[in-house]
Amino acid sequence: MMLGIYIHIPFCVKKCGYCDFVSVTDTKLAEAYFSALDKEIALSAKLHPDRVDTVFLGGGTPSLPDEKYIAGLLSRLRAHYAVCEDAEVTLEGNPCTFTPEKLAAYRRHGVNRLSIGFQAAQDELLSLLGRRHTAAQFDEAYDMARAAGFETINVDVIYAIPGQTMRQWEDTLHHVLYKKPEHISAYALKIEDGTPLAGSIRRGEIAPASSDMDADMYGMAQGMLAEKGYINYEVSNFALWDRECRHNLKYWNLGNYLGLGVSAHSNIGNLRFANTDDIAAYINNLKGGGLRYASSQLIDESERKFEYIMLKMRLKQGIAYREYFDLFGEQFEKGRARQIEKAMKYGLVYMDERGVRPTAKGFALQSTLVHVLTEKEGA
Ligand code: SF4
Repeated sequence: MMLGIYIHIPFCVKKCGYCDFVSVTDTKLAEAYFSALDKEIALSAKLHPDRVDTVFLGGGTPSLPDEKYIAGLLSRLRAHYAVCEDAEVTLEGNPCTFTPEKLAAYRRHGVNRLSIGFQAAQDELLSLLGRRHTAAQFDEAYDMARAAGFETINVDVIYAIPGQTMRQWEDTLHHVLYKKPEHISAYALKIEDGTPLAGSIRRGEIAPASSDMDADMYGMAQGMLAEKGYINYEVSNFALWDRECRHNLKYWNLGNYLGLGVSAHSNIGNLRFANTDDIAAYINNLKGGGLRYASSQLIDESERKFEYIMLKMRLKQGIAYREYFDLFGEQFEKGRARQIEKAMKYGLVYMDERGVRPTAKGFALQSTLVHVLTEKEGA
């Protein structure tokens, strides 16, 4: 099976108010961090000889550090791993950190897909989120990326931001559509415990979006993006024909992926393992010369089945009977006939001779759909 590689670049200009990813603003750590990554690449490649068909540099803000680090990283990766000629290589970036020099260097080193965090078209919402860029800077960065020759661009947008109106969300979607990216990720804002935004909500300074508002905004995105030819191939992801993110599809299809860098998670067959969330500990571990995972777990058959159903129901293509049978030796349509019937009754899925797929309503009511399909007999 082909391997996907995720590399975490944990540097950001400033911590956004809603973010709970592992990231720091101290770029002085870059030298030590990238040399630790070099070591992890060399050591891990001995354990995972598979060919690599997707690479994703995420963060953090991979577009923040000097381009020499990204160039070195990608060269090292190719020196140790069998990265396919036509591999999808994505780099995530924040609009205020792009420069023509950086973009040209990314292209020279094989980055062929950019993912740009736009989030909202209103500067007041960007500032509420603690983002460092403006809508005008997004436009500039996007145009710079096209001028540098990037033919595949994803734009991230967020809805259900406290105080965001339907009109503002509609304007954000119009703004993105005007740019014609190949891929759009639209996520509902998740209020993560321990973030400054969660604190402001707890103190009553701002009110979170209601669940009705959240659902209406999602419905608006589904409608507006479908009208412009974007396929809602995953709950929160929309792509023009054949422009899905191949790397992220590995997560939802329970494919093999290896995570490198601080806090990165891996899934190889039934084995899960993850690096420490502590940057200093990550650097020190690798200075000490060895791979040391902070956690590892062997997934049993019933967990794997649950995850499979949960992840497949995030995808438009749903569950194919044939693949389910090949993986688990059971007929999904027979073993879960009662659950499928119930999900159909509520309009959450439809079935055909190939398999069971979520409807648009099933996408909107994901947790209910997964709950119904994984109900135990007699429940
Ligand atoms: S840019 Fe992204 S990773 Fe960095 S703090 Fe903001 S949301 Fe988090």
